[in-house]
Amino acid sequence: MKLLCALCFAVMLAAAANALDREAFTFVRYDLNVRVEPQQQRLGVRGKLTLRNDSGSPQRNVSLQISSSLNWRAITQQGKAVQFLTQPYTSDIDHTGSLSEAIVSLAQDVPARGEVELEIGYEGTIPQDATRLTRIGVPAETARHTDWDQIGKTFTAIRGAGYVAWYPISTEAANLSQGNSVAETVARWKTKQAQAEMKIRISDARGSSEASGELTCNAEAGQVNVNHSGGAASAVTECDYLPLEATVPLFVIGKYESLEGTAADVSYLSGHKAVAAEYAHAAEKALPFVTEWMAEPHQKVEVLELPDAGASPYEAGSMLLTPLNHVGTAAMEMTAVHQLAHAAFYSPRPWIYEGVAHFMQAAYRERQSGRQAGLDFMESHRAALLETEKSLAGEKGEQSLSKTEIEDLYRSKAMYVWWMLRDLVGETALKGALAAYQPDQDREPVYCERVIEGEAQVGLRWFFEDWVYHDKGLPDFRVESIFPQQAPSGSYLVTVTIENLGNAGAEVPVRLRAQGGDSSQRLEVRGKAKNSIRFTMPSPPLEIVVNDGSVPESDVSNNIYNVGAEAGKR
Ligand SMILES: [Zn+2]
Repeated sequence: MKLLCALCFAVMLAAAANALDREAFTFVRYDLNVRVEPQQQRLGVRGKLTLRNDSGSPQRNVSLQISSSLNWRAITQQGKAVQFLTQPYTSDIDHTGSLSEAIVSLAQDVPARGEVELEIGYEGTIPQDATRLTRIGVPAETARHTDWDQIGKTFTAIRGAGYVAWYPISTEAANLSQGNSVAETVARWKTKQAQAEMKIRISDARGSSEASGELTCNAEAGQVNVNHSGGAASAVTECDYLPLEATVPLFVIGKYESLEGTAADVSYLSGHKAVAAEYAHAAEKALPFVTEWMAEPHQKVEVLELPDAGASPYEAGSMLLTPLNHVGTAAMEMTAVHQLAHAAFYSPRPWIYEGVAHFMQAAYRERQSGRQAGLDFMESHRAALLETEKSLAGEKGEQSLSKTEIEDLYRSKAMYVWWMLRDLVGETALKGALAAYQPDQDREPVYCERVIEGEAQVGLRWFFEDWVYHDKGLPDFRVESIFPQQAPSGSYLVTVTIENLGNAGAEVPVRLRAQGGDSSQRLEVRGKAKNSIRFTMPSPPLEIVVNDGSVPESDVSNNIYNVGAEAGKR
């Protein structure tokens, strides 16, 4: 009889798993005690979760997901055991490509907007694992440098949702081989959890921390309260995310030495003091440029070294996890500009927060070596952007820049957008707009446009419509015709007509080359439209070039018009 009941319960839960709404609940409060044992690569967690039913209908079942290398030990409600079934759940939201999912069957329904509190316990190991990447064909070496999270004997670094589910989450399965499924799932989770409160106390066995070093979590000023209370037996770090906002909670345990600069604090590993000093110096050098564009950074930037020299860097706000390699001063300054931009300017919108930081890098290159150097920096991002635009062209649904979670768009495309905005309104107005921008006022996409328009006193709706509110792809300019006329004075009046074969409009530079000098003017050409411009030159035109690289285009092979060659064809 007992066996039979157990069986029918399993069947019931299996049925529940099929009908389960994994995204019904918002995890509004986490209160977790985390014990890390680096020597064993182990993690043990006990604590409380408060969940709110945001699905709009009553829910009886709750899904709790943790990394597949961790195991559920206990789940109780008000001290009483609740029935739950655990199962592996394939999802690339975790580095192992799978989750340990507990499907909890509550004693009674949680009504819409109702809350439920659960006490939970789970444990296991977190070794390095790049299964989600290698199984889709990423070479093992590359995969290891990307998914570097692990609890290790000498070094530990664990990032949260989207990397390692070291705290419970619940999302529908995400699949790396299906377009942007992982990025979208993580974004959906983060948006839902933005107001959640997370209190985490992390302790590590003192014996091991002697060997492995200090624990750091990503403490944003005002969000996270870090208290070290060193005892003989254990060290506890309190990490409070109140609320989480867009932060992905992470912690690092490393045997760091630290170097405090005026602009950056660098935590480096043994033997890397010289590179750390180089970085701190680079940040110092870049600081005046960032301060000139934005406000004074509200905090120093923080760098934590990753021991794997080939590891992909990871940015968490103004904190950067990166290998410290001798990459040269110029490259370090570029990284520092990006980090400092984040420390000085915040926006909850990725295309603004990241776009501005990347734009600052391009503008810094321009300041160092001239406009062409800035344009070359952007050009190095164009191929990837083109690929992304091409792959999106066939997809249903729109990826507006203001809402996108696709990196190539909110980083590379947004960088171009900010560059074009500067060309459109001028540097003074754009600086004014960045100063006037208030992240807490940015409640609708149009806010940013209004701030810039207010500073520049020009209408930018057409530009935002084509680039920010909708994804109209990229423009494609060509010189449609050129009409030179010699005036009685002997000078040449040259009318140039530019056609935009793409759907996104832009203001594009048009350069006319003639013997004895060039002349350049800017021309606004809307999507699927033509516009003309007139030059007055002392000698006949030789060549017309549309676009200097400041507008990202889908095809740049048709941008030069050789007047002599075209005349010869006639
Ligand atoms: Zn960034």
